[in-house]
Amino acid sequence: MENPERIGCVARGYLEPFRHFATEAIHSGQEPEQWNSLALVPPISLSTTFKQHSPGEHSGFEYSRSGNPTRNCLEKAVATLDGAKYCMAYASGLAATLNVVHLLKAGDQIISTSDVYGGTNRYFRRIATEMGMKVSFVDCTNLKCLEAAITPETKLVWLETPTNPTLSVIDIRGCADIVHKHKDVLLAVDNTFMSAYFQRPLALGADICMYSATKYMNGHSDVIMGLVSVNCDKLSERLKFLQNALGAVPSPFDCYLCNRGLKTLPLRMKQHFHNALAIAMFLEKDPRVDKVVFPGLPSHPQYELTKRQCTGVPGMITFYIKGNLEHAKIFLKSVKVFALAESLGGYESLAEHPAIMTHASVPEEDRVLLKISDSLIRLSVGLEETEDLIGDVDQALRAAHPGLENPTKVEDLLKHMKFNC
Ligand SMILES: *Cc1c(COP(=O)(O)O)cnc(C)c1O
Repeated sequence: MENPERIGCVARGYLEPFRHFATEAIHSGQEPEQWNSLALVPPISLSTTFKQHSPGEHSGFEYSRSGNPTRNCLEKAVATLDGAKYCMAYASGLAATLNVVHLLKAGDQIISTSDVYGGTNRYFRRIATEMGMKVSFVDCTNLKCLEAAITPETKLVWLETPTNPTLSVIDIRGCADIVHKHKDVLLAVDNTFMSAYFQRPLALGADICMYSATKYMNGHSDVIMGLVSVNCDKLSERLKFLQNALGAVPSPFDCYLCNRGLKTLPLRMKQHFHNALAIAMFLEKDPRVDKVVFPGLPSHPQYELTKRQCTGVPGMITFYIKGNLEHAKIFLKSVKVFALAESLGGYESLAEHPAIMTHASVPEEDRVLLKISDSLIRLSVGLEETEDLIGDVDQALRAAHPGLENPTKVEDLLKHMKFNC
């Protein structure tokens, strides 16, 4: 067991946390001077329209689809947290994806990494192709596969790392080097699983950083929202145009909530990491489990890459329960602290069955290739007490496999995990 003093993100060899992150998360874009009232907490600006001084001459806002003061606050904060110049907020993560894909035209090719979020997969396969785009799914954990897939028609390469639900980690810098050998090809990274606190795709060479803010960025499971951050002026102009022209913008109230969620992002992410690492270590020793996948475990094939490109690991764990669909179902019906539900990244712990739930829209033959089998269970580890979460997983595994026990002494495991990110 490692010395407890040494167990923290930096001590474990992860990338240094981004400087001033917690301060920026609290103050960036929130200047009280932008409001007449000098409000420290941004007001929810519900007005859809704004008075003009003379026709066409206004104070920065005309109509809330094209710009809203509360949305502005959030967009500025997220841009800072991503190390970006610009950020655009959307009505959902998929709306953010849609806006990015609208940068392309019929005949263009999208290369997507193979195991993306189910809704992204569905959008690429069933809608982008209908609009005349070509979509190729490629395993981007293998840089040679990506390189071989790029054609003169390629205009967008779409990564999601870690992948969902199999948690493979993709080398963003490596992909950026390949993509940028070609002119006019954009590299987009869906950064939903990592959040801005654990990974900065733009600093690793990506052109576009996208989020479903519904997950960790908001973190409270009460908002559906998407975000896109970029550095390039021309790209941001086109995206701003599309944001207004396509019209899939979030409400001021949702912007207020997401902006509030950011204040605790660093604290939440550290605790997600701590809780998930403890559970992953517990599951790794469990005779009722065939395999655990967690990028923060040294047994993960891309553990070294994860430490090189991330400042930590979020609360997502995938594991294959011993047995078959029946065992997975008993586990999922037996959890009490974890809720059986889709989604992820909130303060509350969730468990789900990707083959039946989140990834049901992925064709069965693809699910087999991606190893999304009937015994695969995905956990989104929340912020409850670590011991209660391990206890819950343990009792649900006992229900699925009576007679088999995990030999780990939870007290000892936790004693060695005094965390200090
Ligand atoms: C949830 C999710 C999306 C889609 O976001 P919505 O806010 O649900 O539209 C996209 N990518 C990933 C990785 C997600 O988890």
